[in-house]
Amino acid sequence: MRDLFFLSAAEFTCRTGLVEPGPLFDKRLQKLSCTVAVCVRDNGDLVLIDAGLARKTYLHPDKNFRKAMLRLLGLDLARSTSIVSQLEALGFDAGQVKTIVATHCHFDHIGGLADFPNAELVTTPDELESIGAIGLQPFYRPADLADQVRIRTIQLTEPRKYCCPASLDLFGDGEIILLEAEGHSPGHIAAALQGPDAIYIHAGDALFLDWEIGHGFEGPSRLSKLLCSDARALMRTQQNLRRLGSSDDAPIIVSSHDSRIFEQLPHTPLAPASTP
Ligand SMILES: [Zn+2]
Repeated sequence: MRDLFFLSAAEFTCRTGLVEPGPLFDKRLQKLSCTVAVCVRDNGDLVLIDAGLARKTYLHPDKNFRKAMLRLLGLDLARSTSIVSQLEALGFDAGQVKTIVATHCHFDHIGGLADFPNAELVTTPDELESIGAIGLQPFYRPADLADQVRIRTIQLTEPRKYCCPASLDLFGDGEIILLEAEGHSPGHIAAALQGPDAIYIHAGDALFLDWEIGHGFEGPSRLSKLLCSDARALMRTQQNLRRLGSSDDAPIIVSSHDSRIFEQLPHTPLAPASTP
């Protein structure tokens, strides 16, 4: 992989009591990110792990979300820009994005699909089924898939990797390995990314903040429990990630929404976008 960097598609705020291990009534606000991994392959193709929200959403947030939903999520789109706009500002073209791996199909992870006409969506059968099951969860929106013609559903048929019970080497070259990480949603996956100088695990919403898989306090957080589809599966996934994080030469584990982790990640490519 030539390059690997991370962008954030949105800023959320959440009551500290919901995401930190302290008292529930702590009403201070915690800032959350919406972290997308951008992999630049040796041939210049881009692979995104999640896609954030669509560009049109930022222009008219009220048309895309009910006001109550925006308030509930503490979603402030005036302070962010879409992933496609950020890639363009870095000199990339939307057409270079050939693959979007969804850690899961909630709107804040696949809404941005609409901005990448050449991309194939990679997801699991359980996620596709969930997005079709209207009313199951407010975070699945069938409209996010409305224009998506190319969808590749994957099965994790390869053995245990990175402490996770099943895996799939997406391109067969070890650069992007998809990992079973169920619990937040039925077919949730993580992705191990072999960057130029480190290995990162994009763990999606398997955890919200990094303490959940630390060793002092133990997760899941209240928010993780509140939003998960299967609490036992989520506990197992967090245990796997905790084990992974404590191993020698542990990879860097990235949660979609932990803005403190996000701030420590690389945000620009090492080489200019125009490098052939
Ligand atoms: Zn999310």
